[in-house]
Amino acid sequence: MAEAIGLFGGSFDPIHHGHLIVARAIFEQLGLERMIFLPSASPPHKEAHDLTEAAHRAEMLQLAIEDEPGFAFSDFDLSRGGPTYTIDTIAHFRAQAGGGVELCWIIGADSLTELPSWHRVSALVDECRIITAARPGWTGVDWDKLTDVLRDDQIARLCHGVLETPLLEISSTDIRRRVFEGRSIRYLVPERVRDYIESHRLYRNPTTGSTTEPVCRRPRPPEDNASA
Ligand code: ATP
Repeated sequence: MAEAIGLFGGSFDPIHHGHLIVARAIFEQLGLERMIFLPSASPPHKEAHDLTEAAHRAEMLQLAIEDEPGFAFSDFDLSRGGPTYTIDTIAHFRAQAGGGVELCWIIGADSLTELPSWHRVSALVDECRIITAARPGWTGVDWDKLTDVLRDDQIARLCHGVLETPLLEISSTDIRRRVFEGRSIRYLVPERVRDYIESHRLYRNPTTGSTTEPVCRRPRPPEDNASA
């Protein structure tokens, strides 16, 4: 079987267990040689929020994967800065890997619906294998909507690239909101990432300065029951 490499792009602000579980499931299902995580400088097809400094996102990603066999980090998209297009990233890795290697670009099922707005999507589908991580039984995409931008054989390849993975209801947006509100993000991100967020005071509400570990808000028992 030809060697295959996974490329997992995203803003990773921050990386979380949803990303890692999906990456590991795809790595195993496809027998990948490597899974390369590529934080983006400024995703062109995504609503802009104030992206956290690239150095922090890159550091958290590296902390999350440092003991993970087969997982690697690339700053290729980050180092180019500005909006980057997947087709250019694929061209770079194609030049690096040579013709005999299959390049698999990983997306979550939510990103599949945005595909028609991607830059040169038809060329992209020809240049790499798009792998969509979807929860078992997922039927969330109207394949007919892709006929404006893709040929039937390309849609068939996309469809074939949908892999069932255990999808957790975790998003970076929720993690940022939790920290901002002073709620816990324990179990949502690797401990090293949680420590990093805490020690660099990321995502905090600048007014309250809340931390990721809220103080215990359990009400005190009423006085007369206290000794019962
Ligand atoms: P945000 O909440 O800021 O939009 P996110 O959690 O979606 O972020 P991204 O960095 O934008 O994370 O995601 C990179 C890729 O990972 C995207 O293709 C996205 O669909 C996918 N992804 C994100 N969260 C999950 C999850 N819980 N399970 C599987 N895939 C996910």
